[in-house]
Amino acid sequence: MEEQIIGIMGAIPQEVDGIIAILQDKTAVTLGNRTYYQGVLGKQKVVVVYSRIGKVAASATASALLLRFNVNEIIFIGVAGGIAPHIEVGDVIVARDLIQYDMDVSPLRPKYEIPLLNKTYFETNEMRSNQVIQHIEHFLAPETLSTKIAAQELDKFAIKQPQVYFGTIASGDQFFSTNQQKENLQQALPEVLCVEMEGAAVAQICYEYGIPCTVIRTISDKANQEASFSFESFVKQVSQVYGQEIIKQLFQ
Ligand code: SAH
Repeated sequence: MEEQIIGIMGAIPQEVDGIIAILQDKTAVTLGNRTYYQGVLGKQKVVVVYSRIGKVAASATASALLLRFNVNEIIFIGVAGGIAPHIEVGDVIVARDLIQYDMDVSPLRPKYEIPLLNKTYFETNEMRSNQVIQHIEHFLAPETLSTKIAAQELDKFAIKQPQVYFGTIASGDQFFSTNQQKENLQQALPEVLCVEMEGAAVAQICYEYGIPCTVIRTISDKANQEASFSFESFVKQVSQVYGQEIIKQLFQ
């Protein structure tokens, strides 16, 4: 039987540092400007890497995970900006499907469709996503969360009763930091829960290679005027704990 190796990706160091810290039998390989950490979590062989930001960086890194490190599943974990009105900082979105909101070859093909692939939405792996959602529900329960993140941090980000949602994530090469950007996306794609810059690219590569993909995004900001400030402090203070705890629970 083929050996099961899971690739765990983030875009920035703060999304994966907490996971690299708990890797056992760790070795590091640097290739194409990225460092891939091979090791074991519980009994699971994994390769952990941050890709840097954007669709190009993320898809190149996903390809390297598949071709050079022989992973047969990818889990992306990181932060995102909330788009749907009910999404708050501290909530977690697990992708049901992902769309590249900046792909547009209309009128040749429908807006957002990936040319020559005849596909607009990339679905994730249902089984893994359901499993992840259960662990996140446990992590976000007040009695667990309060032991992992200090009350003053939770207050600072007004994290009260964080929720996990399963739905559509939109990706593109833009940081959303104005109300206008947010409104435009809400109007164009009302089903979108959050926006980020890598997920749909990784999901496309996984689809093309036929391997399961899971995308988990903690909301660091609300993709509006306050986004830069909220994003910066959230990744400094909170995102590592979310990343480490969610992944740790999956494999322990
Ligand atoms: N601090 C970085 C830039 C971060 S870009 C630097 O200075 O280089 C934001 C990252 O977090 C991306 O990887 C993206 O996937 C995610 N993200 C979080 N909030 C976002 C938002 N409001 N819009 C787009 N991407 C967001």
